[in-house]
Amino acid sequence: MAIPPTATPPNVYDAEPIPAAAMAEVERLLQSGDLFRYTAEKSPVALLEQEFADFMGTKYALAVASCSAALFLSLKSLGLERGARVLIPAFTFAAVPSAVVHADCVPVLVEVGDNYRIDLADFEARLGEDISAVLISHMRGHTSDMDAIMALCDARGIPVVEDAAHSLGTTWRGRKIGAIGRVGCFSFQSYKLVNAGEGGILITDDADLVARAVIMSGAYEHNWKKHPVLQDAFARWQNRLPLYNTRLGNLSAAIIRPQIAEIARRVRDGRRNHDYVAAIIGQSPWIEVPPPLPGEDRAPDSLQFNLVGMDADQRAAFARASAARGVKVQIFGLTTDNARAFWNWEFLGPQRELPMTRAMLARACDTRLPARLKKAELDVIATALVEAAAEVMGGQRTLPHDGPRELAYGT
Ligand SMILES: *Cc1c(COP(=O)(O)O)cnc(C)c1O
Repeated sequence: MAIPPTATPPNVYDAEPIPAAAMAEVERLLQSGDLFRYTAEKSPVALLEQEFADFMGTKYALAVASCSAALFLSLKSLGLERGARVLIPAFTFAAVPSAVVHADCVPVLVEVGDNYRIDLADFEARLGEDISAVLISHMRGHTSDMDAIMALCDARGIPVVEDAAHSLGTTWRGRKIGAIGRVGCFSFQSYKLVNAGEGGILITDDADLVARAVIMSGAYEHNWKKHPVLQDAFARWQNRLPLYNTRLGNLSAAIIRPQIAEIARRVRDGRRNHDYVAAIIGQSPWIEVPPPLPGEDRAPDSLQFNLVGMDADQRAAFARASAARGVKVQIFGLTTDNARAFWNWEFLGPQRELPMTRAMLARACDTRLPARLKKAELDVIATALVEAAAEVMGGQRTLPHDGPRELAYGT
């Protein structure tokens, strides 16, 4: 059965409802007015930290205002000197180099290949350039070879921070992404797997590091006593660190906590949706979806793919043809002012040329694909993408008869 041409494309920006349990807790907090994390012991923020650390299998977690704040505090807590050079992938969100600048460090960009993963040859070459820390941004949840990265960094004693904003639920060789480096950072901004509007959290097994992060996040005076971390580590840093006050409030924690139980389902559905659409559009001669690395189990909430054999005009025409079918695609390198295109990070000053990353960004497309979408909605999206490519390239090749409905959906 062909897809009816009138099928309406889904709104991919709508969020899933917040679990009902959050409502009762928000109501309770509003009644009591107890919104500040340090008013009471065992506050919703403190409970969130315990539950998130347990979920990730790490000793400590610190909830803060955003993933950007978590990245900033991670770098500050490593005790890097002013002007320290921090290696980051050249394919990431502008908030990541910004967090490095905020921490008084200098971002050094490393090339990313057309599979959206860090180019290990360039990574190794740059590591030799007086690098004090490495910040691995798992952009859009794509995992680079973490074994190679950790081996190279460990051999040089260089600490690794993971930006796992889009990788909650992703595993690498059975290990949870975000729990591999010295510190891992996550986001609860609305477009991530757990939605609180805004919010972030960092995880680590390092008591001294988390003690510094807790104090700098705004645990003034003896509020650190409300954190179950080795008290020695705290006492050592009392009054010796600035208070950047980037704490999370209890209302946000109340909205986040019941979503932890939803993570496994969202990961499962997101992966099913992604792999289903990827299999369909991958049949187009003009579209290529890079596969995961062996050992990577992903938790996608969006879909990235490369346009093949199209020039710049054809790529722009593809984006228009897809939008005309109700499916918005951004080509990272073609959209004006895209915050994920490194040449738009003018606040960094002049950077070396990064031809590999630039070429990838010119062809790489991005579509949202939330876990809540159903098969019929996925069919509309997949068909729109395949047909848009065929229209632009004037090819006869469209979906095989019965195409999308014959493909495996779910496991
Ligand atoms: C969203 C995002 C961030 C920033 O998260 P905030 O919580 O909005 O600060 C950082 N890195 C990546 C890869 C992201 O996707």
